[in-house]
Amino acid sequence: MDRSWINTPRISDAYEKEVEEFLQFAQHNVVSNHNGVRIRCPCVNCLNGRILNVSEVREHLLCDGFLKNYTTWTWYDELLDFVKYKNRRQSKKWVLIEHNKTFMSWFKQQIMNDPSASETLTWIANDLKFDVLCCSGYEVNGCLFYTKSRDDRSTMQNSRVTLEAESMQFSTAKDQNPVVGSMPYYDFIVEI
Ligand SMILES: [Zn+2]
Repeated sequence: MDRSWINTPRISDAYEKEVEEFLQFAQHNVVSNHNGVRIRCPCVNCLNGRILNVSEVREHLLCDGFLKNYTTWTWYDELLDFVKYKNRRQSKKWVLIEHNKTFMSWFKQQIMNDPSASETLTWIANDLKFDVLCCSGYEVNGCLFYTKSRDDRSTMQNSRVTLEAESMQFSTAKDQNPVVGSMPYYDFIVEI
């Protein structure tokens, strides 16, 4: 979806027309159907955090304006909501797996269609290159890290790392109602 119009002046017919088009599009990404169609409000105040009905979202977008960097940081939820909407009978776990499978190609397409996408996002969206310079050690913010193979030759150990990641957690393989939570991961560095 072309979102270059987000930065156009708000008091114009063109802006109003585009807001209407956005609302049409967003209604396909329905979050809840309990009180009519409700969508995430991407205005400068709600920052996609509030789920409101369409007329409230219209008012916010016309009076307050669109979140400036909306084009870059809401994509994760947008595809997830879309997959959910298209497959309403499927479990949350099925939706998540489907989302993960389709994310890269969908993300690339979004970036290609968005002239305002940053250079970094364009790099990430394009295919990865496999020829890279490797090192056996690296200093990050004053901490020295080594690869496992280099540590094997030394009494000092600088190859262990931990990462706290927020992701969907499943209690068992059959769990159909996963929850979002953070979990620490521990491992060692193989390549730098
Ligand atoms: Zn709002």
